[in-house]
Amino acid sequence: MATYQEPAKQLPTREFDVVVAGGGTAGVVAALAAARHGVHAVLIESKGYTGGTVVEGGTALHSFYNLWKAFPEAEKRQVVRGIPQEIVDRLILAGGSTGHVEMSVGYDYDSVCTAIDTEIYKRVTLEMLEQAGVTLFLNTLLVGAIASEGWIQGVITESRSGREAIYAHTYIDCTGYGDLAAHAGAGYAEPNDYAVANSIGVGGVSLERYYAFLAAHDAVTEMARGPRSGLEGQVVRLNGRRAALPPGFADEAAAIGMSMTTTTVHDDYFMFIKLNYKMDVSPTDRDAVSAAEVELRRRQAAAVELFRKYVPGCEKAFIARTSPSLCIRRGRLITCEYDITREDVLEGRHFEDDIMAYGFHDSAPRLQIQDGGTYGIPYRALRVAGIGNLLATGMMITSDHDAHMSTRNTVACMGQGQAAGTAAALCVAQDCATRHLPYPDLRAALESDGVYLEDK
Ligand SMILES: Cc1cc2nc3c(=O)[nH]c(=O)nc-3n(C[C@H](O)[C@H](O)[C@H](O)COP(=O)(O)OP(=O)(O)OC[C@H]3O[C@@H](n4cnc5c(N)ncnc54)[C@H](O)[C@@H]3O)c2cc1C
Repeated sequence: MATYQEPAKQLPTREFDVVVAGGGTAGVVAALAAARHGVHAVLIESKGYTGGTVVEGGTALHSFYNLWKAFPEAEKRQVVRGIPQEIVDRLILAGGSTGHVEMSVGYDYDSVCTAIDTEIYKRVTLEMLEQAGVTLFLNTLLVGAIASEGWIQGVITESRSGREAIYAHTYIDCTGYGDLAAHAGAGYAEPNDYAVANSIGVGGVSLERYYAFLAAHDAVTEMARGPRSGLEGQVVRLNGRRAALPPGFADEAAAIGMSMTTTTVHDDYFMFIKLNYKMDVSPTDRDAVSAAEVELRRRQAAAVELFRKYVPGCEKAFIARTSPSLCIRRGRLITCEYDITREDVLEGRHFEDDIMAYGFHDSAPRLQIQDGGTYGIPYRALRVAGIGNLLATGMMITSDHDAHMSTRNTVACMGQGQAAGTAAALCVAQDCATRHLPYPDLRAALESDGVYLEDK
């Protein structure tokens, strides 16, 4: 391949205490937690808004609760609280969430459904970040790291203001893809073990009519009722058994990787219909991703056509929103000091350095956490191996696919974000590496900020 030698440049520099790279699911919470602990935090986000995959890919926030409805012996408990719950509270006030409504069908998958309005999520989280005093570098891409001997001195960003070097004491990688960790020389793999997706918001539809369509074919597998457009007791979540539907619908839906799950907080709108596409190579390959983007847009059009053709009441369905680019469930897997195992998750293990408890598994009821309980995510699972001042959160941790099917879900990522932001702020205050932060200090700070922990 021909190459070009880029000339060296003097870059303007900025200095902060904590850099949070990526303002998505985990990053928003990490930046809030850091700033509320009194440090000067900057959030570097490549898009013009916050929320990441929460506002681009998923159907609902899974899950603030243990799976108590599937396990009659299990006590009902809200296992993720703190800042993630505060975001839900703020969304409810703004008309942007159903809150935690109970599933009436499919509660062996999740006991609750927490549906959100993605646009309100963006606005509410931006307001919270502003109020907390986080410096926002939106529309800014992190493109490099200045690192040596296992320590990051700074990161390099690009925006329309040019290329800059941003220095800090402690760094948190919340980019989903692990861009910062990879630039800084961390160990990583690219398992390419999931489909990518570009989920669509569909307007001109009726969830009640979609429910009637699924019910008429005895195909309803999940359902929850809650507030929708200001009225209580409405259908807000649905899933259906594709194979039970008319062959024309079922076969085409399978061919375009269409998921039948949807949620909403509004009449006439499905928040997301997922179109999945399995790439042959890792989603860090620019050329393969370009081809996948084209294919996914074709699938989106075909999905809406299926609703128009087969689902009475959805004849005027149209694509109301798409994501700016496809979403991934895993890009890079970053090597951390501890790798949560399948057994840790399924056997409900807790650790002496737990930073949160979690009780949801995306493969339930096939794979569930023992007895409807929880497992713990240990602090060392967030510490990037070999880099003394870098923490990682979200979909980039946990190598085992079955364990990752739990740790990567939105509410787990949010909880990890709170722990990482809090730990980073404490590392600044104590002028220490992430590994040298005394766990009792972190635990005390998390508990006083409302984080729920279950003892070993
Ligand atoms: C299609 C799909 C459906 C899903 N459905 C559900 C569901 O229904 N419920 C559920 O609980 N979970 C679901 N998940 C899983 C869950 O949504 C994700 O695993 C989780 O949101 C990931 O959070 P994160 O913080 O790791 O990354 P993200 O939320 O993706 O945040 C990463 C952020 O970093 C930014 N960024 C990336 N690179 C850079 C860079 N170099 N410089 C600056 N910024 C950068 C991105 O723009 C983004 O805002 C789904 C995932 C997908 C892909």
